[in-house]
Amino acid sequence: MADTVARIPSLVAALRESYDAGLIRDLEARRTQLQQLRRMLVEQEGPILDALATDLRKPPMEAYAAEIGVALSEIDHALKNLDKWCAPERVKVALTFKPGSAKIVPEPLGVVLIIAPWNYPMQLLLAPLVPALAAGNTVVLKPSEVAPATAAVMAQYIPHYLDERIVQVVTGGVEETTALLQEKFDHIFYTGNGTVGRVVMAAAAKHLTPVTLELGGKSPAIVAADADLEVAARRIAWGKFLNAGQTCVAPDYVLVDASVEDKFTSALLRAVHDFYGDDPKHSADYARIVNERHWDRLTALLDAGGFDATVCGGHGDRANRYLPPTVLAGVKPDAAVMQAEIFGPILPIIAVADVDAAIRTVNDGDKPLALYVFSGSDAVIDRVLSRTTSGGVLVNHTVLHVGVTELPFGGVGGSGMGSYHAKAGFDTFTHRKSVLRKPTKPDPSILYPPYKGWKYKLVRRFM
Ligand code: NAD
Repeated sequence: MADTVARIPSLVAALRESYDAGLIRDLEARRTQLQQLRRMLVEQEGPILDALATDLRKPPMEAYAAEIGVALSEIDHALKNLDKWCAPERVKVALTFKPGSAKIVPEPLGVVLIIAPWNYPMQLLLAPLVPALAAGNTVVLKPSEVAPATAAVMAQYIPHYLDERIVQVVTGGVEETTALLQEKFDHIFYTGNGTVGRVVMAAAAKHLTPVTLELGGKSPAIVAADADLEVAARRIAWGKFLNAGQTCVAPDYVLVDASVEDKFTSALLRAVHDFYGDDPKHSADYARIVNERHWDRLTALLDAGGFDATVCGGHGDRANRYLPPTVLAGVKPDAAVMQAEIFGPILPIIAVADVDAAIRTVNDGDKPLALYVFSGSDAVIDRVLSRTTSGGVLVNHTVLHVGVTELPFGGVGGSGMGSYHAKAGFDTFTHRKSVLRKPTKPDPSILYPPYKGWKYKLVRRFM
């Protein structure tokens, strides 16, 4: 540990030297690294899936689709679009600046730091790495210590496939991240909770380093009276209990029109049973809580009460880090589960009088990362869209919008700042440099003093 901390300054300095030496400047070098990363994901799929199973008991289907698959599609999209993204963009020049030509030249930022969390520990480390490399940066990767098996696999294989002069992996916890944050980076990309997000931003401020903060929050699911309740229940149950609720865009709670609450709750119970059987503990498709600390945090939320009934689920088994899919009914606004992001398989249901009441509840909290609205009516959907703010919205489904590569993914307000995926990711790790080029002739005197009256008049006429 002390060794890692001690070598951080020289490790960052070496990455800066590589950057300055242009090791990842040209597009061929960037392509090589991306192709190598692709090779790693294909050749080491087994060890990666094993690590994800060790850390979170992720079912292979979830691990493949939401971790390896996401990274592969980011890589393929970047490889396909790299030439286009990196091409300078010509800009028209107004008469006043003629003769001359202007363009915007995308250039890398330099040395960037990517700090990842534990819930999708591979995806959230590599999905930002792809655009960072595509944009031509050298990179320090900091996997989460809370998912140690995945961190170890990344630390083992990344140096084997990628050029160590371009990408370095630093494992460890708070001590190592704190040491990294003392260094000067050209961008810091942090995914995790808002408390540490503030630590990251304060550290970045010392060097005037720009940050992207991919945070969480309480993402609501609004179910209107005219929603297809069976479909809504299935899709909410899927998005919530995927990865045992440890998903930043999981529907945190449901605001359901009171007139359909009972029907919706019954449909939800059926969906949970259809997905995970009589006892979800024995389902191979249900993940585990990442560690005992989080299991304790989640069960404390249940113990604190503030709701009328536990419709399904409950405490589970600490030794196994198992917490069943849990649905709570009649949840009060001051219940412990409603005070912060749940980040686990507990789904509070709150009945509201109508969609306007749901909108008011959403707007009383921080701006969420995701918002889900289930309705059969365009008017209802448009009302929710136009009167709420969130990182993203998905109508009549949950979570899937994150997988649409071309849609920028990121939060707003309390759920974060900046975005990535595809071109948005490339832009995050790119400086768009403005370049105006003028010929030396002609060199009219109009700009230069003495500012005679006719010059002033002419300037006023054209500007
Ligand atoms: P975590 O505990 O793994 O922490 C994230 C990173 O921060 C780790 O690499 C860790 O080493 C570092 N860290 C922790 N404490 C630190 C400190 N005091 N100083 C410096 N670095 C520190 O992950 P987490 O925060 O528990 O992740 C869960 C949160 O992340 C949830 O709020 C979730 O919504 C959010 N999240 C957001 C997204 C997104 O894309 N917006 C994705 C996943 C998770």
